[in-house]
Amino acid sequence: MSAKFVFVTGGVLSGVGKGIVAASLANTLKNRGYEVFLQKFDPYLNVDAGTLNPAEHGECFVTADGAETDLDLGHYERFLDVELTRDSSVMSGAIYRSVIEKERQGKYLGKTIQVIPHVTNEIKERLYRAAEQSEADILVIEIGGTVGDIEGSHFIEVARQVAWERGRNNVLFVHVGYLPYLDSSQETKTKPIQNSIIDLRARGIQPDIVFCRADHPIDRQQLKKIALFGGLPEEAVVGLETIDTVYAVPLVIAAQKVDRLVLNYLKLKIPRQRSNDWEALVRRIRRRRKTTLKIGLVGKYMSMSDTYFSVIEALKAAGWQSTHGLSVVLIDSERVEQVGTTLLADLDGICVPGGFGKRGIKGMLLAIQYARENQIPFLGLCLGMQLATIEYARNVLGLEEANSTEFDGNAREPVITTMSDQVKKLAHLEYGGSMRLGNYPCRLAQGTKARELYGKASIQERHRHRYEFNNAYRPVLEEGGEFIVAGVNNALDLVELIELKDHPYFLACQFHPEFRSRPLRPHPLFVGFVEAAGRFHKDNEPTQRLPLHYRQVPGRTRKRSQG
Ligand code: GLN
Repeated sequence: MSAKFVFVTGGVLSGVGKGIVAASLANTLKNRGYEVFLQKFDPYLNVDAGTLNPAEHGECFVTADGAETDLDLGHYERFLDVELTRDSSVMSGAIYRSVIEKERQGKYLGKTIQVIPHVTNEIKERLYRAAEQSEADILVIEIGGTVGDIEGSHFIEVARQVAWERGRNNVLFVHVGYLPYLDSSQETKTKPIQNSIIDLRARGIQPDIVFCRADHPIDRQQLKKIALFGGLPEEAVVGLETIDTVYAVPLVIAAQKVDRLVLNYLKLKIPRQRSNDWEALVRRIRRRRKTTLKIGLVGKYMSMSDTYFSVIEALKAAGWQSTHGLSVVLIDSERVEQVGTTLLADLDGICVPGGFGKRGIKGMLLAIQYARENQIPFLGLCLGMQLATIEYARNVLGLEEANSTEFDGNAREPVITTMSDQVKKLAHLEYGGSMRLGNYPCRLAQGTKARELYGKASIQERHRHRYEFNNAYRPVLEEGGEFIVAGVNNALDLVELIELKDHPYFLACQFHPEFRSRPLRPHPLFVGFVEAAGRFHKDNEPTQRLPLHYRQVPGRTRKRSQG
């Protein structure tokens, strides 16, 4: 194994964009022709991100092989355009669990178990395994939290040991700190970063490159001061001011020649940059457009947009490709429940994303009904598909008691439920889970919108859910020919995608297409959705739109402006 290792640590504060910096640096190295793999060391004592509250911790990102990880892995996949694996996410809880299990099984032959070497060895095993299996030239490892956190100390120690084992030419230490700004003296201050470098050194690590994040313009002199204090060459202290789009960070990094510096340190050749696709992307992102589409994301974890990070990025990516600008509005479904669909009045498209539990369901159902009846483009994701099915069964077929057994265990018409017969076939049930996680194949039916958008019949998409479309209701739902089952997993006999026929765009899927969207390759379902929103916007100039009360008449199926 000849991989080189780049460890990325954080100082001063968490949340300054260490993940974006790690992903951006990786992006610039990839653009020099190197294979790069990313790994995140997460200090939390959780075993995975599956049980973390999305409103607090942000979205749970799911890899193709079904690992439930945190949202940084989503940045990595988007910035690198790779498919990461279970090996990319190393949480402390999983490490400790494995050490304790080995201890119980007597594998340590009666030795006392300690953080060094037992926990650190367990971490290194995963690090070296990832390097080997990915066959990457360079492994970028982001250590979560900030230097000095008690919880993260075993990871910092691993970084130190790896440099000692592999030699300094094979390991690079990148530190990302923050320059706070003092209003009274109108200057950014370097002391906190200086202190975080001291913290690192106290743990045996001398950083090679220091990124200084700041929300205000950075004075060159201050970077020089940090270089002097930290014992770094001046070019190794890099200012990163907050900019309009995170997708420009790789360009800023490359413009400051940090990619060359990294390769120099690691004694690697510096090939020419491969493409300028990323520059073109940033130009597209920054292009001013005459019209702006308003897309409503009707969900229930509204305290932070991080909860729907990948969905929002997927919408934006589809928008950059279109001739319209796009603004994503977060709409609290509980407010829709209280205030009514007036909240949705000026939207050009409605998206109902994934979620768990009963709270907020009513508002989402109202939003779906509103989109269906008013011919507003609609995209349902996972929970969004389950609710679209319930809405159709209730309001079109008159099955008033249609529900998911997730919301009512005794539902009289369980159109969504756990399909225990099929799900039993899933291998992962062996170790106790009951969720469908990661990639599953799906076959798209001829003549459907989905098939046209994907341009092929066989697809693989990522899942994360427990409940399924109940096949017992398929005949009655499909009877009139309007409700179409457009995608099916044939092996498990599970419905994966539905659409409505007489609607400009009404598509909902059981999987999470957002995880496979890339800034340079937006996902077809999102592209189709945004294009439909563009057409809707054109045909329904907001000034000509009908007063709201007209638009709430149930059963309307015409374009709003014709009513
Ligand atoms: N709560 C639903 C289920 O478990 C949907 C999950 C989701 O939207 N990710 O099936």
